[in-house]
Parts: sequence; C-alpha cells; structure tokens
Amino acid sequence: MDQETILKLKDVDKFFNDFVAVDRINLDVKDGEFFTIVGPSGSGKTTMIRMLVGMDKPTNGEISLRGKVINDVPANKRPTCMVFQSLALFPHKTVGENIEFPMKIKGELKNYRKARAIELLEQLHLSESYYDKMITECSGGERQRVALARALAFDPEILFFDEPLSALDYRLRKTLEKELKDIQRKTGKTFIYITHSLEEAMVMSDRIGIMRRGRLIQVGTPEEIYNSPVNGFVAQFMGEVNQFEVDVRGDELADSKMLATYRSPNPAYDNSSGILIVRPEDMRLLSPEDTAENELEGTLVNQYSLGSRTQYQVMVNGKTLLVEMLGAGVDVSEGDEVKVGWSTDSAILLKE
Ligand code: ATP
Repeated sequence: MDQETILKLKDVDKFFNDFVAVDRINLDVKDGEFFTIVGPSGSGKTTMIRMLVGMDKPTNGEISLRGKVINDVPANKRPTCMVFQSLALFPHKTVGENIEFPMKIKGELKNYRKARAIELLEQLHLSESYYDKMITECSGGERQRVALARALAFDPEILFFDEPLSALDYRLRKTLEKELKDIQRKTGKTFIYITHSLEEAMVMSDRIGIMRRGRLIQVGTPEEIYNSPVNGFVAQFMGEVNQFEVDVRGDELADSKMLATYRSPNPAYDNSSGILIVRPEDMRLLSPEDTAENELEGTLVNQYSLGSRTQYQVMVNGKTLLVEMLGAGVDVSEGDEVKVGWSTDSAILLKE
C-alpha cells in the first residue's frame, strides 16, 4: 500500500523582491519518510525549510499538511518542530529541564515528564546520569542528542533539521548520521533534513531532493540518484566522476576530443550530443592480456592510497581520468603506459 502523503508542496515559489530563491517546487513527502533536501550553498534550502516550518510564507503556491493548506499557519501553531544547527538549548538549565520543556508547556505532570525524559535519553544513547547535568557540561555530540530528545518530546508530526551535524568532527558526524536514521526508524516520525552534503544524505535518507538555483532538479531514492543522475551537476555533486563529451550514433558514442568510440549504455538520444559519465570506482587498470568493453590507453601520472582503495590519475589525450581500485591496487609506476577499461553497464549517458 502506498504511504500517505503528509506534506505536499504545489507550485511553491519564494521571491525576495524580484529574486527567485525558490522556484516552482512540487513535492510530496510521505508519512514516516526520511526526506533530505540537498544542494550547494545558495540553492534555496534554508528558504524552503523556513516556509515548511512556518517561519516564512511562500510568495505563490500551496503547502499542505495532511491535506490542509498551512501557508498562513504560524510556526508555533504547527505540529512540527525544528532542530537547528545552532541548537537553541537553554544553556543555564539541566539536560532534564531542557527535554521536559515541551512537555511542561503542554501541562504534563512532573513524574510523567521525568520518566519520558529518561526514556528519550536512553533512546539517544545517553544514560540516566545525564538528566541532572548542565548543558554547559555536555560535549557537542551530547548537546546534539539532547536537542533531538527535546524535539522528540514535543511529539511533533514532522521534525525538520537544518544542517544539525555540520559543526561536528567527522567521526562524530558519521556516528550521529546512523543514530539519527535509527531513531527515525524506531519512532516512525517523518524527518525532513537539509544539508549540502550528498554523502550525508545518502546514508540517512529514504529519498533525496536535489536543489539547484531554487529548483528541485531531481527527487529519488539514494540508489536512483546514484545510478541515474538526471544531469552532470547531480553526478558531479556526488563526488569525482569522469566525464566525456560525446556524439550519440546508434549505440555507439564518438568522442571527438578523445578520438575514441565507446559503447553506449543508452542509445535513446540518437543523433544528439551528450555527456558520458563513468565513476572512478567503475574504471580499472587492465593488465596487458586483459580486455574490457571500453578501453583507453594513457600514461599513469599519479597514484594515491585512500586507505581501502587506491586512486590512479591517468593522462589520456590531454585529459586526466580517475581510476579507483580496491585494496593496494595493481603494480604500476608513475610514467608507465597503462590501459584503462570499464564495462558499458557502468557508464551513464546524460543529455547535458
Ligand atoms: P546555504 O547552504 O549557504 O545556507 P541555502 O541553500 O540554504 O544556502 P538560501 O539561504 O535559501 O540558500 O538562499 C537562497 C538564495 O536566496 C540566496 O541567493 C540568498 O542570497 C537569497 N536570500 C535568502 N534569504 C534572503 C532574504 N531574506 N532576502 C534576500 N535574499 C535572500
């Protein structure tokens, strides 16, 4: 059965004078979904989330929650809650007081509030002993968990997150990404998250919406976005990729700059020009007796260890290709003539 739509955007725009910060967004977010909006700086993510939480009104269009238009409902009258980058906790209060705050507003009794606060602490991997600690005694990661516990204490229908992990160090961020996904699954709440990191979005999200210059240019599961990016912008946003400008003829692609012909994974754009994308991890260095569906010859200019993988830079007709292989890779030295190969299945053909 299809999940119910909890939040719907219909032709939503936001103008600042005549500048279009958010441009005709149409989107359905499903109940219980972890949905992430990803985009580079200035793409309109914050403007979008401000409208979704009720801090701003759209210039045009409709935002509905469970079928009811909420454009004019202020933030404090919406059954939703925002977890900010700057955590907005009360620093002079204890962890327990912070978490209990939303329940206090609702008039819940002290015994219930305390039991629920401790339950939330445990859900967030903080022991009961944190209950009486001051916020100032908590580390960045602990504060992040307390902020999430407080947001959950509101029992909102949707939790919004504005880059909550961006100030934390890499390891802590990785841990909290997984924990956040776990909490979302356990609570069954709808999470709407914004970030400029597609890598972060890939780990946590059921679906991702990619924004560029105020527009939502692609919406899909992490797999759909990884395997079928709509254009070179999305493909590159995901990390380093090899791009070839090609002319499409039948199922063959001719690259006039590389003087090469490749097999096409998708001949649908016959007689047009396009971009062929091959990820570094889908390319390999071939030994002399080895062959692949697509091959190019070049010179190895650099090789780096990336821990679990080795990356090679290969110069082919004046263009640097990136090749990544698992482990220590193959035995080659800088300056060697090498053959790069990839399978046609791993190449993605895009129109722009
Ligand atoms: P970042 O990742 O840097 O926070 P963002 O994707 O969240 O960026 P927004 O903050 O939504 O982007 O801004 C989108 C565009 O709208 C930017 O060009 C910004 O300058 C502009 N903008 C945002 N708020 C206003 C405002 N109040 N008045 C005028 N222009 C604004």
